Amino acid sequence: MKKQWLLILVGSLLVLTSCMNKANEPKAKYVFLFIGDGMGISQVYSTELYLASLNGNRQTNNLNMSKFPVQSYMTTYSSNSWITCSSASGTAMASGFKTNNGVLGKDSTLTINFESIAEKAKLAGYKVGILSSVGINHATPASFYAHQNSRGMYYDIAMELPVSNFDFFGGGGFITPKGKGENQPDAYENAEKSGYTYIHSKESIQNIKKGSEKVLAVNPFLLSKAEFAWEIDNAKESISLAEFTRKGIELIDNPKGFFMMIEGGKIDWACHANDGAASVKEVLAFDMAVAEALQFYKMHPDETLIIVTADHETGGMIIGNENEPNLGLLMNQNVSAQEFGRLLVNVQQTNPKATFEQIMELVQQHFGLGSDSKGLALSAMEIAMLKKAFDETFDGSKGLDPDKEYLDISANKTIPDVAVYLLNHKAGISWASNDHSATEVPVRVIGPGQQYFTAPIDNTDIPKIIAKLMGL
Ligand SMILES: [Zn+2]
Repeated sequence: MKKQWLLILVGSLLVLTSCMNKANEPKAKYVFLFIGDGMGISQVYSTELYLASLNGNRQTNNLNMSKFPVQSYMTTYSSNSWITCSSASGTAMASGFKTNNGVLGKDSTLTINFESIAEKAKLAGYKVGILSSVGINHATPASFYAHQNSRGMYYDIAMELPVSNFDFFGGGGFITPKGKGENQPDAYENAEKSGYTYIHSKESIQNIKKGSEKVLAVNPFLLSKAEFAWEIDNAKESISLAEFTRKGIELIDNPKGFFMMIEGGKIDWACHANDGAASVKEVLAFDMAVAEALQFYKMHPDETLIIVTADHETGGMIIGNENEPNLGLLMNQNVSAQEFGRLLVNVQQTNPKATFEQIMELVQQHFGLGSDSKGLALSAMEIAMLKKAFDETFDGSKGLDPDKEYLDISANKTIPDVAVYLLNHKAGISWASNDHSATEVPVRVIGPGQQYFTAPIDNTDIPKIIAKLMGL
């Protein structure tokens, strides 16, 4: 009798242990975390309305991310502000802890380094990839591997990158690769010395094969802050975020699994400039990168988790003003506000006596403004706004700075500012500011564990849920 009881006890223990082991098993072996910088609900919805307008219908769930089964939202505030910045929000999404705006991967007293979900995954034997369309040492990607008192310490962040030992870094280059001191090593050389294969031509990036240990792949075509060209400017020499995502998957796919963070960094920059058309094109490019992850998901649906979210909203974008929204009008803009600024600087230099009428021709050519047939006729007041900008900024000395990260549109001072403002207004887009807002951001999820994202969450919940699902 005693023996029988013992057998039952041992049997039950065995069943219990096997259940516990099952509970510890990772449910999500492949995790993609997509962060659209500055991508609020309206940034996504304006892109959906743009596509609906091009398709001539009222179907709005026309992006890859809008078809995900979980469509929720998330709060983003930081330790010291309702309005977060990319480093505080990046830190929250990477580590599960809030910090002050401007701080990177550390607590607000600057004494504790937070371990990121990417660092945890790497330690547990997963492969890790970090991708961004802006500098790879910019706040969002850096939140996953660096720990610095300030997000602006670009050189120190760049030098910290190889310490992570992560398997793939792709996209933008280093902002400030050289330190201020004379004897400070170049950050690219430092990465190579630490065992990274640094590649930066289209050919070498396309040809690199699996088995290359650690890779730092940088887009050969970059702008002044080591970021991708604007999507709307259609730089042919550039490699897209989607291509980088595909290459990243190819390189780090392995039987143990991986964690990959992909940032669409210039949605934020477009919205700082209140440039709706540029924002739409950046969201589309970001969604194409999501499509690459979806391809992978289709091969491993039971083990692949894709999360698409944002660090914060930028610009306080709202669809609606006294005009009926017609996002299709944005199609008439074929250049970013920033690139149009550069183009005008070039005109100033080659033809300083250019007349207002000549500049208006350029405005029409690049924004459609002034064209009746395109539905973009200008009122006398709107022409006066452009004339004022022309009078105040077209003497070659002020107003136009092509190297600025984004334009200061707050006072609608320059010709590109006014052109963008008028086109956005006619398309039905309004803006609250040139900066981030406190509004919640979208959370779209597909894959094992998606049910944990159905209720609204906080940005600190993201790594906690991922850790649970990856068994970290
Ligand atoms: Zn920003």
